[in-house]
Amino acid sequence: MCDVIIIGNGPAGISASLYTVRAGLGTTVIGKNGGALERAEKIENYYGFAEPPEGKALIQNGIAQAKHLGVRIVTGEVVGIGYTDKFTVKTSQGEYAAESIIIATGAQRQAPAIPGISEYEGKGISYCAVCDAFFYRGKDVAVLGCCDYARHEMLELMPVAASVALLTNGEQPKADIPPNITVITKEIAAFEGSTVLESVHFKDGSTLSAAGVFVAIGIAGSSDMAKKLGAQTEGNRIIVDDNMATNIPGLFAAGDCTGGMLQIAKAVYQGAQAGSEVVKYLRKKRGN
Ligand SMILES: Cc1cc2nc3c(=O)[nH]c(=O)nc-3n(C[C@H](O)[C@H](O)[C@H](O)COP(=O)(O)OP(=O)(O)OC[C@H]3O[C@@H](n4cnc5c(N)ncnc54)[C@H](O)[C@@H]3O)c2cc1C
Repeated sequence: MCDVIIIGNGPAGISASLYTVRAGLGTTVIGKNGGALERAEKIENYYGFAEPPEGKALIQNGIAQAKHLGVRIVTGEVVGIGYTDKFTVKTSQGEYAAESIIIATGAQRQAPAIPGISEYEGKGISYCAVCDAFFYRGKDVAVLGCCDYARHEMLELMPVAASVALLTNGEQPKADIPPNITVITKEIAAFEGSTVLESVHFKDGSTLSAAGVFVAIGIAGSSDMAKKLGAQTEGNRIIVDDNMATNIPGLFAAGDCTGGMLQIAKAVYQGAQAGSEVVKYLRKKRGN
């Protein structure tokens, strides 16, 4: 049985593992792929890099660092967690038992199958207003979504962009719309441009000029695992206290799956906090 299983090998999960393994806990990290960071081409706002690193390089370095310290890294997809007197983590390959769990599975950024969406990723299509709003100063942009996550992205963009439109792609808006936002509920046919995104083409034949479209549909699916264990969630975010503890003893969460700021710095901090708290939790439980 593992002392702790960390689900997710992104910045939150790996950061947590550094704290648990260095405190002497048997630590297993289970991860499916590179997560959000894999898609970040250039990181300019994380401490310590004069030359902005690629997201992929940060992930690889983090995993190598964890392995070097003795963390067991398992590649696999977690399909569920059970709890009796211990946690059971079910993966596509088998089951693992653990005394404590940290969920660090990130936020699921959903991309609809609209022509042009992959083609213009990083060239006008963005998944992170906090990261990329800076590049769209004084430009016309749009947010694709209809719920609280889309509202959050609109509020980030409004102070810097010339105009912000909300594209719901056929849905009705389900969040309060900030003032001065044009809401377009028409279905989208395609994102178009030349080397970079220039416009959104709708199925009724009309067009909207846009230098940037920020995709903000839904948020994490990560909370499903937590919910099934009886952990409190709000929307798709897992509710944690200041120590990253959920309401289930031994179950912690860190990073994008806890909502709020979706940034590496916050994921690394929350991972460190969750890792330290698991150490305290197990020491107390074992009476040492
Ligand atoms: C295009 C893009 C650009 C970005 N640019 C920046 C930037 O410039 N600066 C910045 O600070 N932030 C940026 N971000 C945000 C940043 O990447 C995230 O905030 C950060 O990666 C969150 O870390 P995390 O560990 O919580 O989640 P993630 O990095 O998403 O990692 C989650 C991990 O969980 C794993 N996982 C998920 N579900 C399962 C499962 N069922 N079983 C097993 N494993 C699972 C995934 O494989 C992944 O390894 C960007 C994000 C995107 C998408």
